[in-house]
Amino acid sequence: MHALTFQGKETITYERVADPSVLAATDAIVKVEMAGICGSDLHVYHCRETGLDNGTVMGHEFVGEVVEIGRDVKRFRRGTKVFSPFTTSCGVCFYCQIGLTCRCEKGSFYGWVEKGSGLHGGQAEYVRVPLADTTLLPLSMDLTTEQGLLLGDIFSTGYFCADMAHIQPKGVYVVIGCGPVGLMAVVGAKNLGATQLYAIDTIPERLKKAQEFGAIPLNLLSEGSSLNSVDVVDKIKSVTNGRGADAVLEVVGSPSASRLAVDLVRAGGIISTVGVHTTEHFSFSPVEAYNKNLTYKVGRCPARFYAEKLIKEEIVQRYDIASIITHRFDLKNGAEAYRIFDRKEDNCLKSVLLT
Ligand code: NAD
Ligand code: ZN
Ligand code: ZN
Repeated sequence: MHALTFQGKETITYERVADPSVLAATDAIVKVEMAGICGSDLHVYHCRETGLDNGTVMGHEFVGEVVEIGRDVKRFRRGTKVFSPFTTSCGVCFYCQIGLTCRCEKGSFYGWVEKGSGLHGGQAEYVRVPLADTTLLPLSMDLTTEQGLLLGDIFSTGYFCADMAHIQPKGVYVVIGCGPVGLMAVVGAKNLGATQLYAIDTIPERLKKAQEFGAIPLNLLSEGSSLNSVDVVDKIKSVTNGRGADAVLEVVGSPSASRLAVDLVRAGGIISTVGVHTTEHFSFSPVEAYNKNLTYKVGRCPARFYAEKLIKEEIVQRYDIASIITHRFDLKNGAEAYRIFDRKEDNCLKSVLLT
């Protein structure tokens, strides 16, 4: 089959690799119809997260059709259209039972093979899905391919970020970063009842999208060209009697965004962050955290848990979440897709690959 493989820093190759096969009785093979490129793929692309073997098939967002099953797979059969969360999960371990499916004791992250072991990803014609019964979700008739793709990762992640922020109707909330995940956090916060919701970025098109989803946009770029976090902190203080935001949803994962979150949040407030942080230290001190009575919530989204919950709530039917998909590429043009997505060329917000 053909797949996009990692070949070192900023090098993605479309090449022929071995077809995946059923290795365990609980495996399924899915023929991929659509795969997403995620902001998290860029950490690998730029080698900010290291350890991945060259030749690893990239990608952890996909929708497709089950074409083969192991003998213990009971919930799916050949021909069923499915989507997958970005990690696999067993459904029965301690973490799966408490809803933290992303930390399943038997789980794997797609698109991560290190020293020969791990799981290849979904930016390919076919993908192997371990623990298929408790990982995959059926793409029901009322879900589009795009909605399934977004539920498997970024929509669930944005919603999880909003959920951790304990949204109350009268509160003041700020989302830092209006990339695909930040925009989904805006949708999640609105759905959870936020009325005064601000969204910060530097890219006008992304701020416009945040506004369409119901946020009040704040551009971090002042009239000149330097970053001006003082203005946004002043703005949020001016609407909260000098206190700061009740919760800040930090959806970037950088030290500067983290620093801004601390400056924006009020005493006793919450910072909820799903940005993948790759530095060794916090950009704020234990003293500052103490002096603010800060609650800091962070981590990987339990996407299996959230996707299942959100399907039942039919929230994806209420918001046009698929409108964030700005670019579609054939899988064979994957290297170019990565380049354009990475450089945000042509106002690229979210890219998908079609097999
Ligand atoms: P992205 O890079 O497309 O978006 C980040 C946005 O933040 C951009 O629009 C950028 O202009 C803006 N930005 C950067 N620095 C800023 C600052 N200091 N202040 C305000 N805005 C700033 O990324 P994305 O795809 O939306 O993903 C966001 C993060 O979420 C990434 O770190 C990604 O790896 C992570 N992620 C985490 C999970 C999880 O389970 N926790 C899942 C998916 C993605
Ligand atoms: Zn992702
Ligand atoms: Zn488990």
